[in-house]
Amino acid sequence: MGSASILSSVARRLEGKVALITGGASGIGECTAKLFARHGARVIVADIQDDKGRALCATLGPASYVHCDVTDEADVERAVDTAVALHGKLDVIFNNAGVMDPPGNGFLASDRSTFERVMATNALGAFLGTKHAARVMVPARAGSIVSTASLASATGGVASAAYTCSKHAVVGLMRSAAAELGRHGVRANCVSPYGVATPLAMTGTQLTTEELEAAVEAMGNLKGVRLKAEDVAEAVLYLASDESRYVSGLNLMVDGALSVTKSLE
Ligand code: NAD
Repeated sequence: MGSASILSSVARRLEGKVALITGGASGIGECTAKLFARHGARVIVADIQDDKGRALCATLGPASYVHCDVTDEADVERAVDTAVALHGKLDVIFNNAGVMDPPGNGFLASDRSTFERVMATNALGAFLGTKHAARVMVPARAGSIVSTASLASATGGVASAAYTCSKHAVVGLMRSAAAELGRHGVRANCVSPYGVATPLAMTGTQLTTEELEAAVEAMGNLKGVRLKAEDVAEAVLYLASDESRYVSGLNLMVDGALSVTKSLE
């Protein structure tokens, strides 16, 4: 029995839905793929880590892997077309693939190629995912587009300029999509995590998972809770499911109120 059978059909919040997850082989995307599968979705994992993505899909029940570099439009187009070819439709896209340049990469130390690389994956990648998902969702007059922004979409000073700029751009893309696609029955939202101990968050640090989680908690506003990838996946599940059917244009912060309370020290 696949993992989708663990929950009863009443409890499965994505029963019958088809969901494409970019950056689905690791971290937040991987965790969301698992949660979506448990909730009855047919998941397509799209990533550039092919071995990891295929191994994950083998554990998910009705799931498929597609190689997809989100900076390459032909790859994104093929990933969306694969979902439609396999399952006849696309209900959900989670534009989640992302990269981060190392901490301390300030204006004086950073270079143009780093800025372009971060923008290409985080902003252009979300644009291409939104564009090609819309191509099949608009004729279907339904769909949910969810993109991973960040705490860095709401404030400066918590990441590099390139990363901050890219995540503000993701929110701009999402708002544009919500405005343009609403008349076609398509919703667009963002999820914005604070710090989660994933390979991306470990970039340039020597910290263990435990140390990173402790540091995130110490700098955060909400105490006694360690933010996990599962917490972000639950927010994405809400935005993907029909429970949020009138929610569009939202940047759902999963940050324990950090963005609206005080600055990181
Ligand atoms: P992660 O490194 O575990 O996962 C990122 C995934 O994206 C990897 O599987 C990687 O192979 C994939 N990827 C990278 N470039 C790609 C490309 N060009 N095409 C396709 N796939 C590509 O990191 P994560 O923390 O799970 O990151 C997921 C998202 O969450 C990112 O958009 C990141 O910016 C965002 N985010 C993370 C944190 C955090 O603290 N971890 C906080 C806020 C936002």
